[in-house]
Amino acid sequence: MEKNLTITFWGGVGTVTGANFLLESDKTKILIDCGLLQGTPDSYEENNKPFPYDTKSIDYLFITHAHMDHIGRVCKLVRDGFRGTIYSTPETRELASVMLLDALKVMSMKEKGVDGVKEIPLYEISDFNETFLLWKTISYHTHTEINNDFSVYLKDAGHILGSSMYEFDFGGKTVVFTGDSGNSPAPLLKDTEKITNADYLICDSVYGDRNHEPKDERDKRFRQIVTETIKSVGALVIPAFSIERTQVILYELNNLVEEGKIPSVPVFLDSPLGLKVTEIYARSKKDFNSGVQSEIKGGDNIFDFPKLNITHGSRDSQEIVNTPNPKIIIAGSGMSSGGRVTWHEMHFLPDPKSTVLLMGYQAVGTLGRKIEDKPSQVEINGSMIPIRARIEMISGYSSHKDSDGIVDMVSDTAKTVKQVFVVMGEPKASTHLVQRLRDELEVEAVYPERGKVYKL
Ligand SMILES: [Zn+2]
Repeated sequence: MEKNLTITFWGGVGTVTGANFLLESDKTKILIDCGLLQGTPDSYEENNKPFPYDTKSIDYLFITHAHMDHIGRVCKLVRDGFRGTIYSTPETRELASVMLLDALKVMSMKEKGVDGVKEIPLYEISDFNETFLLWKTISYHTHTEINNDFSVYLKDAGHILGSSMYEFDFGGKTVVFTGDSGNSPAPLLKDTEKITNADYLICDSVYGDRNHEPKDERDKRFRQIVTETIKSVGALVIPAFSIERTQVILYELNNLVEEGKIPSVPVFLDSPLGLKVTEIYARSKKDFNSGVQSEIKGGDNIFDFPKLNITHGSRDSQEIVNTPNPKIIIAGSGMSSGGRVTWHEMHFLPDPKSTVLLMGYQAVGTLGRKIEDKPSQVEINGSMIPIRARIEMISGYSSHKDSDGIVDMVSDTAKTVKQVFVVMGEPKASTHLVQRLRDELEVEAVYPERGKVYKL
């Protein structure tokens, strides 16, 4: 007999953040991801709201990858009563423990009202500890039978280290979640694996209405911006996400320096979290693509090169500012929403010789997005900062597929798929992608409504 199966989208609809999907069979309740809503003025209130379902009734939580918009509310779910099993790849579990502990530290600072606003943390250290007692791992490419109800199979999404796509099989109905699918070919990671057997596909769409520049062009532009900023004796400030972007930038600079393609200048990694994540990357060589693996076998330490300085204490940020130009500063956060990069932006945005290089998606409402729009001045930490520095944007290093990339991915399973649910994008991006999928692949693409129950 055919099994009853429904899906409800409790987050990640009409926004690129807050992933939270509920899949229910007669026997089992499964959540896929439990992320933070980020970047909107009401994020804090939204993230603090009780979950719209009975947390104690959830049996399993599957995590696609360790970005905060996919894991940020996991410990809150545990605080609110969830005692089921959490599953992810081993790499995602390790990255998540670093990210969730760091987030707790930041929230504890906000509790003291450091920036004048007092916010109560979403969870305590005891919830964090309890979370990781519940958290088990499944490696890529293994079939796991669960609850005598369904099986699950993990494929490499090629998005960040450990990122996975989930294929759930409920007695012949195959439901596939892409999580976030990677921008292949990526500098470090393997390509996104093909999906060919989905009956129902839940697909990310952050760049659903835009394409990235080609790989050759992104490499050329990166080299050009680095060289020109060095020539003008300025500082090159790169806001970087601690996962993936920081490691990719270090890897690209490592190659450019060692091949003598850019002058050797001081490079600062001013991101304690980025450093911790880089250490996890350095231990996970088997996850890199074959080109990178052979460089490592050839003896190259891909994340280290002459004149790379890694800072630990926050006092060092001042020393970086004082170091004579030219120099390169890599600092978090990736969308300049807090973190040490805002300190460097305050110093170097007013300097016409310097460059701020944005290398990733800047969500609406973030300081990064404001800088991307190049106003004459911008407010940072309560001060108005004039913008005289050069502002550049390279989207090709994004770890998300672009519009053509997603259409390609879906086309592999166009023959089998009954419905494609387009999520994790701003409305314009998601609806554009829905239209493309209908027009070009003739599949039934849906832009789901939050909270509506869809029968599969
Ligand atoms: Zn992601």
